[in-house]
Amino acid sequence: MKILSGIQPSGRLHIGNYFGAMKQHLQLQDANDGFYFIAEYHALTSNPEPDTLRDYVFAVAADYLALGLNPEKTVFWRQTDVPEVVELMWLLSCVTPVGLMERCVSYKDKLAKGLSANHGLFTYPLLQAADILAFESDLVPVGADQKQHIEVTCDIAQKFNHLYGETFKIPKEYIIDSVAVVPGIDGQKMSKSYDNTIEIFEPEKKMRKKVMKIKTDSAGVDEPKNPDTCSVFALLKLFASEDELKEWDKKYREGGMGYGDAKKRLAELMLEFFKPYREKREELDKDPAYIEKVLKGGAERARAAAGETLARARHNIGIR
Ligand code: ATP
Ligand code: MG
Repeated sequence: MKILSGIQPSGRLHIGNYFGAMKQHLQLQDANDGFYFIAEYHALTSNPEPDTLRDYVFAVAADYLALGLNPEKTVFWRQTDVPEVVELMWLLSCVTPVGLMERCVSYKDKLAKGLSANHGLFTYPLLQAADILAFESDLVPVGADQKQHIEVTCDIAQKFNHLYGETFKIPKEYIIDSVAVVPGIDGQKMSKSYDNTIEIFEPEKKMRKKVMKIKTDSAGVDEPKNPDTCSVFALLKLFASEDELKEWDKKYREGGMGYGDAKKRLAELMLEFFKPYREKREELDKDPAYIEKVLKGGAERARAAAGETLARARHNIGIR
């Protein structure tokens, strides 16, 4: 199967990105054909500083490789190195009703907050559709926030196929409910753009500090607490063994436990979990030439794959 997913270089990658998306990407890469990319064009919708964008692109690549992405097997590239996708987006845009884009939540949310959205944000789901369709993806592993965009992709592909004959494969989403929305330290969805993340490779001290800042209710030590509504508990679920989790569940419900205890243990578990990858991450930091070589190599393979789909779409739509 072909597996496709992208991640925006809009900040340092965090625990939500890992459990909601990257973990599945890494697990699926052995038995399938993985196509994973760094979505710079998507990140441009929030107008980052040029140097910041470059730093984040490098960090995303280094994080993925440190965590085990296998560049020999998996195609891994920068979105901006594959212009075929942008051309495909234009072909798709001509069969896409404006109303379909207007219903997309990322755009709607921004307007609802009274912020003005740029045209890139408005068209964001269409570029994502081009990404997915260009690589003939079977499966798109993502967090719950992306569900609507994949439905939009299927709508557009079906419309194109209906008008111009069988051109695109219809993809399927792959969302694991238990990790679909990892909460951030403020209790909202953990997001690079909300300033509420715990980064995968956060320096140890900083990671502990951030965990201690996770928002909880004000129940005192002796009072019983509800694990089902607690962000600390939601994060413990990602890292603790089943037996340990049962114990925490009991301690929460019985009372006699302070949130500080749960947070300290959570920080320990997080640090332990990512420790085996830290050394590799530090090595990669010192080897930008290697990272560049991986991304360039990936771009060549990605261009070849997207080029075939684009040629078919151009032919079917009546271009030369
Ligand atoms: P931004 O705030 O810039 O949108 P982000 O943190 O939401 O950044 P993205 O690059 O948009 O990250 O998303 C990359 C992948 O990680 C997507 O598949 C997305 O669904 C998933 N993801 C992001 N945040 C979470 C989260 N808190 N829980 C589960 N999955 C997540
Ligand atoms: Mg996002």
